[in-house]
Amino acid sequence: MTIPSARTLYLAEWVVPIVRPPFRRGGIVVEGERLVAIGGEAELRAQFPEAVVRDFGEAALLPGLVNVHAHLELTAFRGMLEDLPFVKWLAVLTRLREGLSAEDVRESARAGVLEAIRSGQTTIVDVGATGAGFDALCESGARGLFFQEVFGLRSEDAGESMRGLIERLQPLRAHPCARTRVGVGISPHAPYTVSARLFRQTVEYARAHALPLCVHIAESRAEVEFVRHGQGEFARIYERRGLLWHAPGVSPIRYLHDLGVLAARPLLVHGVHMEDEDIALVAQSGATIAHCPKSNAKLGHGVAPLPEWMRAGIAVGIGTDSVASNNTCDLLEEARFGLLVQRARRASPTLLSAETMLRLLTLEGARALSLESRIGSLEPGKEADFIAVDLSGAHVQPVDDPVAAIVFSARGSDVRFAAVGGRVLFDGASVTTLDEERLRARLREIRTRLRHRDALIRD
Ligand SMILES: [Zn+2]
Repeated sequence: MTIPSARTLYLAEWVVPIVRPPFRRGGIVVEGERLVAIGGEAELRAQFPEAVVRDFGEAALLPGLVNVHAHLELTAFRGMLEDLPFVKWLAVLTRLREGLSAEDVRESARAGVLEAIRSGQTTIVDVGATGAGFDALCESGARGLFFQEVFGLRSEDAGESMRGLIERLQPLRAHPCARTRVGVGISPHAPYTVSARLFRQTVEYARAHALPLCVHIAESRAEVEFVRHGQGEFARIYERRGLLWHAPGVSPIRYLHDLGVLAARPLLVHGVHMEDEDIALVAQSGATIAHCPKSNAKLGHGVAPLPEWMRAGIAVGIGTDSVASNNTCDLLEEARFGLLVQRARRASPTLLSAETMLRLLTLEGARALSLESRIGSLEPGKEADFIAVDLSGAHVQPVDDPVAAIVFSARGSDVRFAAVGGRVLFDGASVTTLDEERLRARLREIRTRLRHRDALIRD
């Protein structure tokens, strides 16, 4: 838990700076919160003879991974919502959540951060209904961005939704952590849960207070059908609840554009169903994308047009989404799956590369959050957010290309060390800022209660 004031020299068999090719037997020097040097072992030892040395051996040093989309609050639901159609999945999740106390939700979020840090995530973007994810990120020492969710189907309720949103935002924005490590933003959830008026008001508020925006968009076919034609499962839900919906008759992305949401450069989550025109609109607006390939596959939404986004110059990061739809929070697995599914779908053995995917996990993910000047690569002057990935395992050896080894062979559980701003958060045995044993026990208790509730609501 101590912040080293002196210099520390971290060494490993491989160093992967991202902004230049990987090299052998080298390291980085960290002083306080910043990375001050990178180079070969001999050169760094000569230049910093007084530095405390930590050698990870057969491992790779690389920037901390950036998870651009998670729902930390939902960690307790892992493995509970299997094989459900999306709309049913959303409905069951919503009803189960009502059975959790505020403290349960906080523990669930802490368990989510624990898993993320252990698998090398040093920056985590969380979207949540309560501030539990914000608090968990602050306590844990991780870097992050928390988006406060807002919902409101009825146009006439927009004012009330905004008041609730502002009330929830105020304590978060006033928290000292919000000025340093964990940013705060707003997430109007999705076109089928947020009225046009509420979308406009959230954008206005975000612009007036310089807050980032995040929207779930173009995730399912049901959503496209609802926005384009006013039909399908979401339309039926509106009907049943006596809600009015005038389908705008355009794609979900065009709808966001017409509402003025894209102009606020939001982080768009999913975007599975995007036509060429949608991709051009996003690229022109400067909006960025959180790509969650495993969640998209598991919920049967499809394969997002990742190569097309990248060709259009859109900043794309990789997100795990919640473990309720994944079921792991492991970005190495996410990147591997994201690459393989594109190659399988397009029958191409050369589409994307391990290097490209590792860039999405680090520098591009940082760019999607406008943090690329501070994190995402190993460069002097940047914040010392870095990890060590063990490459000695039987499932990884032998190694002569560390990037291929990290993306195609390694797992989150191969991460041996994680630091944020020079502070050690994971030392290979445990996360230094969270009580792992207590959290595991609490998670089991919460799960027992959730199972009980599940049996009741499914009857
Ligand atoms: Zn999500």
